Amino acid sequence: SIPLGYFGGVGGAAKRGILVKGSTFLDALTDVRTVIFDKTGTLTEGVFQVTQIAPYNGYSEKEVLTTAAIAESQSNHPVARSIVEAYDNEIGASDITLTNSDVTDYEEIPGHGIRAKVRGMEVFAGNDRLLHKANIDHDTCNVEGTVVHLAIDRKYAGYILIADKIKSDAAIAIARLKKAGVTETVMLTGDNRVVARNVADKLGLDTYKAELLPEDKVDAIEQYLRQSDKKSKVAFVGDGINDAPVIARADVGMAMGALGSDAAIETADVVLMDDAPSKVAEAIVIARKTHSIVW
Ligand code: ADP
Ligand code: MG
Repeated sequence: SIPLGYFGGVGGAAKRGILVKGSTFLDALTDVRTVIFDKTGTLTEGVFQVTQIAPYNGYSEKEVLTTAAIAESQSNHPVARSIVEAYDNEIGASDITLTNSDVTDYEEIPGHGIRAKVRGMEVFAGNDRLLHKANIDHDTCNVEGTVVHLAIDRKYAGYILIADKIKSDAAIAIARLKKAGVTETVMLTGDNRVVARNVADKLGLDTYKAELLPEDKVDAIEQYLRQSDKKSKVAFVGDGINDAPVIARADVGMAMGALGSDAAIETADVVLMDDAPSKVAEAIVIARKTHSIVW
């Protein structure tokens, strides 16, 4: 039978917007020593703003933004949404509106970007790795931020620079974890090293790994699971569709509830309803209090 105290623990956590899917995970939370975060949407807002458009090879800023926006209109990725929004704000009203028939072929390449046929042209939009893979010569620009390169009919058309904001309680979240006895805080991201280092430094994270493909994130968590002794648990906190396999592997898989994808929320052992990373430390503290009442 389940000791009564657990109901208080699960219920008390729920009142604070922390949904724990059963007493087993409340127990596991008490032993968490490593907390691994996804970056985009978990430690950062996941809402990018376009900060620069750099056209190349005779294209205009407008052509770069319009072509990228048409192609990205098929994607739900936060990177894609920022480009479509910038198009809507800057050009949308004065230009022909986007129609679905503008895109006749479309493919999303996880951790890379997208490939689409836009008004008959072959378009690639994505990171350095995508253009490398497609074998398209491009500028390996030395800029601070997330870079979306664009190629039209295999010719480099330029890049769009976008930036995300760190969540307001993310630094507090890391400090509280350390206070709660978590010995290692880690960030995993598919984004580039410059962006990752910047976020990790600002938050005081112990480790970060950048430019990871979705499958690299699974490998990374498995490595942490192998390293930790039996009594020490590894938690992972994420929000995206690609995060579900990583959430499933962790001892305690946690998902952001408001912004998170359905797949992430379903797979998670713990759901943080208001998307605040500081709730991770709060969940650990509540679990320990419950534990000391039950035992
Ligand atoms: P993360 O959630 O850690 O940022 P993802 O695997 O979702 O990791 O994305 C990794 C990188 O792949 C992004 O930073 C971006 O450079 C690129 N990318 C993914 N989807 C798109 C897209 N729709 N358009 C352009 N670039 C994309
Ligand atoms: Mg993500």
